[in-house]
Amino acid sequence: MDFSIPALADKIRTEADAYEFLEELRWDGRPVCPHCGSVRKPYFLTPKDGSARKTRTGSKSERRVWKCADCRKQFSALTGTIFHGTKVSVRTWVFVVFEMCSSKNGVAAREIQRKYGLTGKSGWFVLHRIREGMKREPIAGLLSGRVVADETWFGGKPSNRHDHKRGTGGQGVTDKQPVVALVSRETGEVRSRAIPNVSGDSLQRVISEEVDAARTHLHTDEGTGYLKIADDFLAHSSVNHKAGEYVRDDVPTNTAENYFSQLKRSIDGTHHHVSREHLNRYLAEFDFRFSTCNQTDSERMQRLVGRQVGNRRLSYRPAPRE
Ligand SMILES: [Zn+2]
Repeated sequence: MDFSIPALADKIRTEADAYEFLEELRWDGRPVCPHCGSVRKPYFLTPKDGSARKTRTGSKSERRVWKCADCRKQFSALTGTIFHGTKVSVRTWVFVVFEMCSSKNGVAAREIQRKYGLTGKSGWFVLHRIREGMKREPIAGLLSGRVVADETWFGGKPSNRHDHKRGTGGQGVTDKQPVVALVSRETGEVRSRAIPNVSGDSLQRVISEEVDAARTHLHTDEGTGYLKIADDFLAHSSVNHKAGEYVRDDVPTNTAENYFSQLKRSIDGTHHHVSREHLNRYLAEFDFRFSTCNQTDSERMQRLVGRQVGNRRLSYRPAPRE
């Protein structure tokens, strides 16, 4: 499948079309019950008048509903996904998801409101729900192999940005928000997180949750936070950025810098300001897009929608880069 806005507009004219489209992405023709995981052919609850069914309140619904042959519960392609239980039309969801998957710098809530006739609140809500969907699944494996770790700071005066390794962005008290990024040199996957500070303890917590230390050669700059945890790793190399050194053992540590610069460009250009509480959501969005940058927009959308289910297409293995 290869999507584009015109192709989607042609294919998805009604709510029922949008349901069918999601069914295709999620189930690939073989519906799976999201309640019990049964793959036994479920019953399709055929609409009485061909396209729409009457709801309890008497209004018409174009929802496509299935009934599980095993647990007898009803479900649709929306059950258990970020699209479930909202007032936004499924058609709108599909288009906004595609825009989020295909725009390099993200999408502004105001733009979505205007284009799709949403209220301010629901435009904002739709985008944040999609960001939730872009968070990797909890069962995703740990990073290993060659992993680059680096930090950056959000907020504060632009003039301080290049001085972030020392200056006010260091381990002392600061109004800037530190973010650590872990980049796999093998797969190009990025995992980033807003952290309270860059002390050894904070870094250790994030890294132990994301990286298999015993199987990892960690690459960092000379930040003192990393010295405390270096012993846990198979190997540790650090470069001295201050002395203008950017490559050691064939690994450029400015790998993470590329990620940070794109992230900052986008937040400045598209969103202007990100509150601390939402930063982790934006990071999830950027990690997703950056980690899948070798894929087409359609493949990215398939991955995002496909992994909304509890029991299929859960694997998250970005294509190798380089
Ligand atoms: Zn079931």
